[in-house]
Amino acid sequence: MRRAILFAFITVFFISYTQAQKPSTPSAIEIYESLQKLNFLGSVLYVAAHPDDENTRLISYMSNHVKARTGYLSLTRGDGGQNLIGPELSELLGVIRTQELLAARRVDGGEQLFTRANDFGYSKHPDETLSIWNKDEVLSDVILAIRSFKPDIIINRFDHRTPGTTHGHHTSSALLSLEAFDLSNDPSAYPETLKQTSTWQPKRLFFNTGWWFYGSQENFENADKSNMLSLDIGVYYPLKGLSNNEVAALASSQHLCQGFGRLAQRGSQNEYIEFLKGEPLVDNVNIFAGIDTSWNRIKGGKAIGDILYNIENNFNFKDPSVHIPQLMQAYQLVKNIEDTHWKKLKTKELRTIIEMCAGLYLEVSAENNWATQSETIKLDIEVLNRSNLFIQLNTIENASGLKISKDMILEENTKYVFNEPLMIPNDQKPTTPYWLMKKGTLGMYKVSDPELIGLPETPRVFNLDFNLLINNTPITITKPVIYRYSKPDKGELYQPFEVIPEASAKITEKVIIFENNKQRDISVVVKAGRDNLIASVEISHPNNWSVYPKTQKVNIVNKGEEQTLVFSIMPPKSQSEGNISPIIHVNDKQYTKELIEIDYSHIPFQTVLLPSESKIVRLDIKKKGENIAYIQGAGDMVPESLRQIGYNVRVIKPEDINPETLSLFDAIVIGIRAYNTLDILPFKQQQLFDFVAQGGNMIVQYNTSYGLNTEQLAPYKLTISRDRVTNENAEVRFLDPDHELLNYPNKITKTDFEGWTQERGLYFPNAWHDAFTPILSMNDPYETPKDGSLLVAKYGKGHYIYTGLSFFREFPEGVSGAYRLFANMLSIGKNTVELEAKLSD
Ligand SMILES: [Zn+2]
Repeated sequence: MRRAILFAFITVFFISYTQAQKPSTPSAIEIYESLQKLNFLGSVLYVAAHPDDENTRLISYMSNHVKARTGYLSLTRGDGGQNLIGPELSELLGVIRTQELLAARRVDGGEQLFTRANDFGYSKHPDETLSIWNKDEVLSDVILAIRSFKPDIIINRFDHRTPGTTHGHHTSSALLSLEAFDLSNDPSAYPETLKQTSTWQPKRLFFNTGWWFYGSQENFENADKSNMLSLDIGVYYPLKGLSNNEVAALASSQHLCQGFGRLAQRGSQNEYIEFLKGEPLVDNVNIFAGIDTSWNRIKGGKAIGDILYNIENNFNFKDPSVHIPQLMQAYQLVKNIEDTHWKKLKTKELRTIIEMCAGLYLEVSAENNWATQSETIKLDIEVLNRSNLFIQLNTIENASGLKISKDMILEENTKYVFNEPLMIPNDQKPTTPYWLMKKGTLGMYKVSDPELIGLPETPRVFNLDFNLLINNTPITITKPVIYRYSKPDKGELYQPFEVIPEASAKITEKVIIFENNKQRDISVVVKAGRDNLIASVEISHPNNWSVYPKTQKVNIVNKGEEQTLVFSIMPPKSQSEGNISPIIHVNDKQYTKELIEIDYSHIPFQTVLLPSESKIVRLDIKKKGENIAYIQGAGDMVPESLRQIGYNVRVIKPEDINPETLSLFDAIVIGIRAYNTLDILPFKQQQLFDFVAQGGNMIVQYNTSYGLNTEQLAPYKLTISRDRVTNENAEVRFLDPDHELLNYPNKITKTDFEGWTQERGLYFPNAWHDAFTPILSMNDPYETPKDGSLLVAKYGKGHYIYTGLSFFREFPEGVSGAYRLFANMLSIGKNTVELEAKLSD
């Protein structure tokens, strides 16, 4: 049983690199390189926290120069952070970054592993990180990765000795790796992972150091390097026509959503790794010293090595199929290896090499990219033997009982095409990333099936096994069902084959704000996963809200088509919030998920199912001033959000700032990082200050201190720092409780700071002119109070406000207190009549 599971685990690792991609058609050089890797029996696991943390130069060097099996364990999938290429954020961003890591590994030859830890956003210290992650679960997953991958060498990206100097996730990855190094061989530690695999002791643990960990190049040059190895990661691969650092740059450039596309480098370059733990080094060159990385490493390996080294040394680049008889002989021997780890690993590698040498082309293409439960779809199966070897196709089978007998000899270079039906079982679960199937916590994904933990993606369910005889030796080659099509402007394209529900629905707006009692209409888009969908749709909602009509009918003729329904939502009279979600009834079944498609050319097409819901917020909000001008900086959703609460917002270009334009507005709001990204803005500062002097309001949102393009951010002296409050629940203290900003037109209380998301704010000023009044004070645990999150100054007849509070994050999440506070900021100075009346009471 244990063996069977281990086998499944490894098989899945392999399949995932090739699935649903355009099938690779390897050249003789690529076959030769695979053979070199087959003949190297050593492995390296690189450990860090996020997609893009990994040093692709080192991963590529280990994989392509050393020929080691090389893995990258990224503790998270990078859900936090920004997306430079599209609208996907949080868990959907994690899906993209997972695929970008897989794309990077396809380039540098590594493999990809994960834990269940979630990238919850910036963390200042590993103590905080490890309290938000479930430390025990993440450590268990790191140990599982080590026990399954069985690395000889582990290399940490980050230093475990310097907590607080980098992202808490980074230091945590190093700390957990260190702990796991000591525990992985102890059967009493995390015994539940031993149901899937066996204990393992890696030989050595290193830290991938470099000058940036020493503060400067000079410090690093003078540092004691007796405990370090230096590796020339600029080696040239004539077979590839590329330097190792060029391969690495190509791999890193897969991280497009993070803007990691970069120039390639060439030429000799040193990379340093510092020895931390394990068997001492014997020299400053060989990280595998004392480890036999030849076939002699395993019992029964010598005979296999004798065959395979001979093929490697006498490889026929003109006709690799001449090696098939010896390869089949080695294949038989490999299948008899006692050690299950090596047996499964090397069987798989060897099978692929045999398939490549024989010039076999096996492909299973579905008629569509998706199907739903109980549907029968047509498969096109292509079988081609491009060698003069004797190859017989016996049967084609799949796990759910399909078995087609063929018993035919595959004539040289003769294409055989079979059309076969594939029935999707009635109880088939739809395709979606396994780690998103259950609602997790802030720090952890919830994965109910322990066999999925650590896998980069959900294993493909629909595969066909081709049972062949090659030179009279039976061999089974497995291929996933894919979808192949063409577009006139793109040529031949491949997509994964997915199972989707027969009905799904989405509400077009994710957060719907009601600034008064008026009802609003929402659109619900229902998508059919099959032909002739007849359904009824209702909207679940909080009790004190109403929705009309109660239900609506849907009738969609063709699969893949959509129908839009409009429902009216009536808010209650007072402040209230909750969720609405569509429920689709099809006969006796109910569907509540939204189907999200992620389509970028650098990664395979992704289908994600998430609960379909939108947040509804009835705000108790008053506001003054109607017309707002907005200057977009790095990009945010603030203008749309302000429109939702009834403001008239016009986004203007910085070039269009002039006295006449400004005179049309009550306030001007500057988007996030505008003074980092808009070079023209500093030249418009004086006109903006003049607008304030004449009675306008100016609100500037956060900028980073690094790369600020002006000294004159405000009409008075103001210094931005790196102060930030990352705890979104940090206590907020009112420094000036009677200040207009906290009282008019909305009375701000502590309740308004509840339910904030991700953080309070960032890059707060830490020094300012006396003209500024600080309004709020807050800080992260164990830090001094930070008073610069919201600063206001009267300037002439108007007001200038600088704020590092994260309104750009809070608005899209419908955080009511953030809206009420911002309305006060926009209303400042416009309350005179009301204010005087109040004061005279
Ligand atoms: Zn990172």
